[in-house]
Amino acid sequence: MTDQSLPKALKPRKCPICGKPAEPAFKPFCSKRCSDVDLSRWLKGVYAIPVVEEDERPDDEERDGGA
Ligand SMILES: [Zn+2]
Repeated sequence: MTDQSLPKALKPRKCPICGKPAEPAFKPFCSKRCSDVDLSRWLKGVYAIPVVEEDERPDDEERDGGA
């Protein structure tokens, strides 16, 4: 919610893996290697979805707000 409206064309894309300037051939990555790294991360993420525990319920039932 900060500067997402900025035109991306003016900002040089950086490789999200190592931070080097991205190569058009491998964008948004700088190389095939980083592209593979991201792909493997993504694949792992798919198979390792963080389990969100929903056991914690907020104890806000006694908030009556009298004043
Ligand atoms: Zn890279």
